[in-house]
Amino acid sequence: MKRVLVCGAGGFIGSHLVKRLKAEGAWVRGADLKVPEFSPSPADDFRLLDLREEANCRAAVEIPGGGSFDEVFQLAADMGGMGFIQAAECEIMRNSALINIHMSQAAARRGVRRYFFSSSACVYRDMTAEEPELSESDAYPALPDNEYGWEKLYAERLAMAFGRRHGMAVRLARFQNCYGPEGTWRGGREKAPAALCRKVAEAEDGGTIEVWGDGKATRAFTYIDDLVDGIILLMASSLENGVNIGRREYVSVDELARTIVAVSGKSVRLEHVSGPVGVKARNFRNDRISSIGWTSKFSLRDGLARTYPWIAAQVEAARRT
Ligand code: NAD
Repeated sequence: MKRVLVCGAGGFIGSHLVKRLKAEGAWVRGADLKVPEFSPSPADDFRLLDLREEANCRAAVEIPGGGSFDEVFQLAADMGGMGFIQAAECEIMRNSALINIHMSQAAARRGVRRYFFSSSACVYRDMTAEEPELSESDAYPALPDNEYGWEKLYAERLAMAFGRRHGMAVRLARFQNCYGPEGTWRGGREKAPAALCRKVAEAEDGGTIEVWGDGKATRAFTYIDDLVDGIILLMASSLENGVNIGRREYVSVDELARTIVAVSGKSVRLEHVSGPVGVKARNFRNDRISSIGWTSKFSLRDGLARTYPWIAAQVEAARRT
């Protein structure tokens, strides 16, 4: 049986990944500061560990009786939406870098065979919506828009360096914005799709919601099941260096909000207010991940039709307590 460690198994993508790995028959250990918030983890072993500590990273990759994990998926990060990324740049640079430094080294020294690192589309520079899509090599010369992107770029290189030194195969995914049920939907770390779903769910029929910025920035959004498909395929592949995973369906922030309103069945107006917005556009190619058979199965509308009811139910449950 394949033995797999998922770091960040208490988070949104990590908890969905653990479910998929278990369904595929792996023995899974999860490691995180916290257990998943919304449903119990099916991991065979779940360790509550602060992975900024070197000793905890060594403990996470330790298997009683010897041997090493076949695969480590490193998704733990101090992470949030644009509001958090702009407000917590020191925490992101420090905490996520420490996690990656210690986990890359612990996994490589322990003889882990394959190591997956969750990087981000934030490694790319700002661009305009009319520009051709960026391919993976366009990450250099590097000019990420925020410190979160710089830390990801550093962590990519760190994982590759430890991989070269210790013969560990490293797979680097650059995720587009991901959304779906059981993701953070309130508290300041939520990303735009979840924040807008929450605002629409909280709004009266005929009411108004606030949208940060002028609503014109363009983005692409990837539904969680599509992303997990990409993670599994990439880890099993021979693709080295950064690999984009994201659906190429570009919408403005206003179009995202209007799609959520349509899915909700309500009539809700948008009011633009100043707030952290991020880059103007982020469009990237997905030829590399497509070359190993990945396709996106969920349109934005299909994915939101699965996500909005879950967030609306959370809003309703919170209202009752
Ligand atoms: P998340 O915040 O839900 O999950 C991250 C997990 O890391 C959390 O459960 C958190 O508790 C854990 N963590 C943070 N600090 C830790 C520490 N010191 N020790 C142990 N665990 C710690 O975020 P997510 O959306 O599931 O993202 C997973 C990964 O994918 C992250 O690396 C993120 O940067 C990357 N990513 C996500 C997106 C997205 O749209 N969600 C886009 C690009 C990249």
